Amino acid sequence: MATSIQTPLKIRICPKSDEAPPTLPVAARQGPTPWARVTGWAKNVPFLAMHLSCLAVFFVSPSWLSLVLCAGFYFVRMFGITAGYHRYFAHRAFKTSRVFQFMLAVLGCTSMQKGPLWWAAHHRGHHRHTDTLEDPHSPVARSLWWSHIGWLLVPDYDATNLSAVKDWSGYPELRWLNRLQWVPGILLAGLCWLIDGWSGVVWGFFLSTVLLFHATFLVNSVCHLWGSRRYATADASRNNWWVALFTMGEGWHNNHHHYQSSARQGFFWWEIDVTYYLIRLMGFVGLVWDIRKPLHVVPVASDEKAKLE
Ligand SMILES: [Zn+2]
Ligand SMILES: [Zn+2]
Repeated sequence: MATSIQTPLKIRICPKSDEAPPTLPVAARQGPTPWARVTGWAKNVPFLAMHLSCLAVFFVSPSWLSLVLCAGFYFVRMFGITAGYHRYFAHRAFKTSRVFQFMLAVLGCTSMQKGPLWWAAHHRGHHRHTDTLEDPHSPVARSLWWSHIGWLLVPDYDATNLSAVKDWSGYPELRWLNRLQWVPGILLAGLCWLIDGWSGVVWGFFLSTVLLFHATFLVNSVCHLWGSRRYATADASRNNWWVALFTMGEGWHNNHHHYQSSARQGFFWWEIDVTYYLIRLMGFVGLVWDIRKPLHVVPVASDEKAKLE
């Protein structure tokens, strides 16, 4: 995957000529074949179809039950992304048992945002190269559109870089789930149908999933462009209160870039971080432990590298 990211950078900085540097192999100079372009875009059909399927809300009336499913599956699955994929798998912000670890991974998968290893590997790449051209989704280095959705449509980031998640790739059940990443989501769609028929599928699955997509993507796009900066991090990360409300606390993104391994991202009572409250609740009942949080949160002039409890 590293090669596929570097290739456009080489072309981008090629001086005075549209020709690719002579060091590139012939295939790279010629670009993808027409067939490769077609198959490359074909992988986006389910993602686009998921969006188009939301138009069915104009033809299928919602029942009260389907609206409950829509909101319920939005927040439950958002928790799978924020607590599971992000704070646990990408940042190891708390510890848990192998069984509950797998349950968090399955819950994350139901959001249809690919597998846990893929998600964690790319997110670690974001923190390693934040707001440079090597960042998979920087709105500063590239564009708002690219950071929100464009990077997901190109084939460059399709593969899972297992070397970035060596700590997880040793678990066969996680590798298996990463391969069968779409299965939990499809089963959830079937469950919605069993509960409330087509109304359940359209409102409880399609609409809920697409809303979940874009709320999650706001962290990549909006939270590197608009909001306040408490910490002078070497990137453009921002704290954005309204994104935090939609994403159960992920909008406190400048806090997060400063204290990346903290399970807590909202540092003051007014920085609402529902994910952290639920992680604390899980800690209280013994489902998780060793929950990491900052030792101090007020920035000082010589704020040494973030320390966690
Ligand atoms: Zn970020
Ligand atoms: Zn992160």
